[in-house]
Amino acid sequence: MISVPDAPAAINALVEKIDAILPQTQCRRCDFPGCRPYAEAIVAGEADINQCPPGGSEGIVALADLLGVKPKRLNSKHGEERSLEVAFIVEEDCIGCVKCIQACPVDAIIGASKHMHTVITDECTGCELCIAPCPVDCIAMQSAPVLQTQRSGTKPESKQQRAERWRSRYESRLIRLKRDQRERDESLRKKKEALKKLKSAVIAP
Ligand code: SF4
Ligand code: SF4
Ligand code: SF4
Repeated sequence: MISVPDAPAAINALVEKIDAILPQTQCRRCDFPGCRPYAEAIVAGEADINQCPPGGSEGIVALADLLGVKPKRLNSKHGEERSLEVAFIVEEDCIGCVKCIQACPVDAIIGASKHMHTVITDECTGCELCIAPCPVDCIAMQSAPVLQTQRSGTKPESKQQRAERWRSRYESRLIRLKRDQRERDESLRKKKEALKKLKSAVIAP
């Protein structure tokens, strides 16, 4: 049982610290819709510290240290610890349905409707969330190239830097999705308003 502070600011600070340990693949293997929600669930006592396969034993030990509890084995119900893989698309088979783009939590896929899609390998977290929605099974996983760990060219990127980059892309995507939803709602509201005006003009003598 972890000890949780009472004050909202202290609770939030603890969530931030846990989230900073998590690898930010946003893969949902922990049974939560992202790393931050998993961090919140740990603090709320709704999740254990051993549910994140990408974080593996190193992540569990770091969480245990932070929370003052004993480390545990990774719960195999959530998957196994393994080295980073990235998605690739067999482009000649892609029908351009955009379902993979909609599923990718870090906007690591580019392409337009009815056109071939491509994974930005360097931004792929290996979450595999794009695989199931693909109607023609043209997405597969492969070992991450050196590029993933030596992104800056001369100096290898640390796990921490990589996690921060992925978190930032994930947060940008959430902001974009909210903005798109607001724009759709506004457009629908305007259409309804115009229709209402048109109806009253037709009915009026
Ligand atoms: S990396 Fe995946 S399993 Fe780990 S906390 Fe994030 S979403 Fe959950
Ligand atoms: S391309 Fe696929 S595997 Fe890579 S981050 Fe996006 S959804 Fe996950
Ligand atoms: S889900 Fe599959 S077929 Fe659809 S755009 Fe993505 S890769 Fe192409």
